[in-house]
Amino acid sequence: MKGLIFRSEASLAHDTGDHRDHPEAVNGDHPESAQRIVAIEAELDRLDWLGYEPRASATATDAMLLRAHPQSHLDRVRAACAKSEPLDSDTVVVPASLAAALHAAGGAAALAEALCDGTAGFGASLHRPPGHHAEAERAMGFCLFNNVAVAALHAIEVCGLERVLILDWDVHHGNGTEAIFASDPRVCFISLHQHPFYPGTGSASDQGEREGSGYTVNCPLPAGSGDGLFVGLTEQLVAPLVALYRPQLILISAGFDAHRDDPLAQCNVTDGGFAAMARAVYVAAGNASTPLGLVLEGGYNVDALARSLALSLSELAGMPTGKGSSEPIDPRVVGVAAPILARRAFAT
Ligand SMILES: [Zn+2]
Repeated sequence: MKGLIFRSEASLAHDTGDHRDHPEAVNGDHPESAQRIVAIEAELDRLDWLGYEPRASATATDAMLLRAHPQSHLDRVRAACAKSEPLDSDTVVVPASLAAALHAAGGAAALAEALCDGTAGFGASLHRPPGHHAEAERAMGFCLFNNVAVAALHAIEVCGLERVLILDWDVHHGNGTEAIFASDPRVCFISLHQHPFYPGTGSASDQGEREGSGYTVNCPLPAGSGDGLFVGLTEQLVAPLVALYRPQLILISAGFDAHRDDPLAQCNVTDGGFAAMARAVYVAAGNASTPLGLVLEGGYNVDALARSLALSLSELAGMPTGKGSSEPIDPRVVGVAAPILARRAFAT
């Protein structure tokens, strides 16, 4: 089966600028900088793209974006980019940010379509800005459009899928993705995130609403959490949920900021931990014959990001890396997983 990676030069032109006086600055720059993509692509070049075929992404159409966002949001983002006006204190833009954001959303939608129509069995959309904090009507947390939501809705409304599972392993809660799908059982949203932490959402008691009740799965994890919790929950909660929910497409909202070397968060996942999480999802997807795509979110130590992403992509392509969890499964995993797996929503 072929693997595709959607990418764009436009990702490099989204200039988030000098951030010298900010506590989250990385080498004086905004942490969400073009260096992230430069490091990722250098690592993939070194590895001959792990056998994936790189493809230039197209920009998202308004029709694609309007499945996740109202017209007023598109208008606001366009106007802010044109005037280089920040969308919030962290979310800075320049005129070229608009094209970057449109390619990020368009690449994610193209990935979903390629996975749905069988062009690819697995793949990735590696763009910036990230997307999972973007709510339907609000850009925030470095995110302009919710790329993974645009991808999931493209798969549902254009390709005709009925069940998409999104696993968000970024260290921050994917508040935007959760809000967009809170009442929608066509998407099962699972998030592993440091809590309490930015953006403040993601309590275990938030489980979706109305028809979507039970299809939001939040796993808030304490600062300091490492492979034992992240890998353990992927193996013992996410994999069984794949078997119960039977998604026709799995999308990983993949941030690598739970890495122990990340400057923005306080979790301790290792390179091998990310490989083990990807392997667990690969095995679960294979058992269910489900195509699998990775959409890049955060990750701010660029070397850790590039290494961990490359290991994950290798595992998703079915090429074992030989890397694994640095810890045994944390005993707390069972207590988190058991009540979620017992929820009636999944007993279909
Ligand atoms: Zn993050």
